[in-house]
Amino acid sequence: MPEIITDQGLLVAELLSEKIQNKNKLTSTKYPNKVAFDCGCGERHTVNDPTLIIMGIALPVKFLFLCKNKYVAFVHVKGFFIQKANCLWSCTAKLYDDVIKGLKEANSKK
Ligand SMILES: [Zn+2]
Repeated sequence: MPEIITDQGLLVAELLSEKIQNKNKLTSTKYPNKVAFDCGCGERHTVNDPTLIIMGIALPVKFLFLCKNKYVAFVHVKGFFIQKANCLWSCTAKLYDDVIKGLKEANSKK
């Protein structure tokens, strides 16, 4: 199981430390089916699962996914010839939304 973040402050710190960007036209999750990760929802998802929503990306090869069970998972794909996916942390979509709203409000007050 990945680390589940339940604390807003901790999630903010993780998001700010990772420089998460929007996905772009080069963003691809076309990995073999065996490239899968354990999600905070308790299921194992393949990275190429079309039901996963890519919320953001980070360097080198990290994806912020929203899964169909309303969990956000931050996944690092490693390896060139043989790839492995590792979920760095996960949190509920609700916590993620609350934190993003909080960050936006904080930015607009500046
Ligand atoms: Zn999931």
